[in-house]
Amino acid sequence: PPVIVWFRNDLRLADNPALAAAAATGAPVIPLYILEEDPEDPRPLGGASLWWLHGSLERLGTALARTGSPLVLRRGPPAAVLDALLAETGARSVLWNRRYAPAWIARDRRIKETLKTRGIAVHSHNAALLHEPWTVRTKTGGPFRVFTPFWRALQQMPPPPPPTRAPHALPPPAAPVAGDRLADWHLLPTCPDWAGGLRKAWTPGEVSALARLAAFLDGPVARYPEERDRPDRDGTSGLSPHLAFGEIGPRQVWYAARHAADARPELAAGIDAFLREIAWREFNHTLLDAFPDLATRPMDPRFADFPWRDDPAGLKAWQLGRTGYPIVDAGMRQLWQTGWMHNRVRMIVASFLVKDLLLPWQAGEAWFRDTLVDADHANNAGNWQWVAGCGADAAPFFRVFNPVLQGEKFDPDGAYVRRFVPELAGLPARWIHKPWEAPADILRQAGVRLGSDYPRPILDHGAARDRALALYAERKAG
Ligand code: FAD
Repeated sequence: PPVIVWFRNDLRLADNPALAAAAATGAPVIPLYILEEDPEDPRPLGGASLWWLHGSLERLGTALARTGSPLVLRRGPPAAVLDALLAETGARSVLWNRRYAPAWIARDRRIKETLKTRGIAVHSHNAALLHEPWTVRTKTGGPFRVFTPFWRALQQMPPPPPPTRAPHALPPPAAPVAGDRLADWHLLPTCPDWAGGLRKAWTPGEVSALARLAAFLDGPVARYPEERDRPDRDGTSGLSPHLAFGEIGPRQVWYAARHAADARPELAAGIDAFLREIAWREFNHTLLDAFPDLATRPMDPRFADFPWRDDPAGLKAWQLGRTGYPIVDAGMRQLWQTGWMHNRVRMIVASFLVKDLLLPWQAGEAWFRDTLVDADHANNAGNWQWVAGCGADAAPFFRVFNPVLQGEKFDPDGAYVRRFVPELAGLPARWIHKPWEAPADILRQAGVRLGSDYPRPILDHGAARDRALALYAERKAG
């Protein structure tokens, strides 16, 4: 009988242990993707992610068709979809790669147990992480709450299992299996079509993911320690959406990076810094495993009743990139236009929302989840809590990013602001991060009319900072 491979966040053929295990049985393989209609889904996909999913499934479908076993698309509650498919095809086993949010784990376990009672074999594998979250533990056996010791422990783990190869051919099921047409899922935006900037910036799919990794290891990684904080440079890998959808796995990244470092010792510092970021991804998954409500509830209980403000106009200005702080606005517009934002700028805009505007970090998490192509349950929630100071690491507690100084330091010529805030493009670098301080004649020459073309700051950062620090000091005191 055939075996079913249920694809989820692992939309690739290489380094896909569930697919490799299915191929090794020699039985016909039915690759399945389910568009989940599950009211219990803790983090349903946002708009930008649905756009990406369409492109990714299209390419996965093409790649699987080449192996001989076409991808079957179905929609509905996963347990019911699997039941129907098992009944139709006579399959006796289901394989998948694990997902790590506790709600998903619980659901997978329920499905597994139900299927087992009916004599269906279920096998799950790890494709998403270097190591299972519950295997990287402190000396006393608990989860790490601070990154640096986690990173040290991760480096002392035995190397992760090497990636499996993509199967060239898969035995198809005896009769074709019916499924939906991808176009009928209507994952792409139509009216209005807001995805033009996403199409220009990205090509979803495994081929593109592998090409990005190779290009990064061939060039930018050498300068990564210096340039990773520069939003005006293409200094990072751009792998995050590919990792979020599992078009590439961290083990592939790890092995390719290690090989590059062995072959070219001068890359060692860049590669270490890069793998440290990959380890942040692992760390956030560990946190999510230990704190199921990571996306909604502060890890630090002192924040449970934090007096967040209610300010719909402030939230809107932040979302639209109209706060009057150029680096914040450039970041929010990069996010809206391309579905991605540079990490340094994510920290700046997040700090602005939480500390300057005093709006709940959960509102930022929700906006990012809807607009990022790399929206990831663990990484998004973990990073928002980190910036808000209620997360895993105490360091950001009293840190309030100064949007002017951050802009001047990390976008020194203002090239990033000019790209995403074209209203300010004519301003000299000296004023581009603080146009409200520019003399009137400079503004005139640059063709900038503050208050009409581009907003004046919606708040005074100095005053907002003092207000935040006072509130945070109260929390600290308990
Ligand atoms: P690179 O610098 O090339 O890093 C390589 C990979 O390491 C990334 O693809 C990512 O998987 C991982 N990584 C890098 N930085 C981090 C980090 N700080 N935390 C966890 N993993 C990291 N990343 C997401 O993947 N999804 C999210 O939803 C997300 N939300 C974020 C929200 C906030 C408020 C902040 C401050 C950061 C968030 N990040 C998120 C982390 C980080 O900004 C992105 O992973 C990174 O910008 C992606 O670009 P890159 O692939 O070029 O990164």
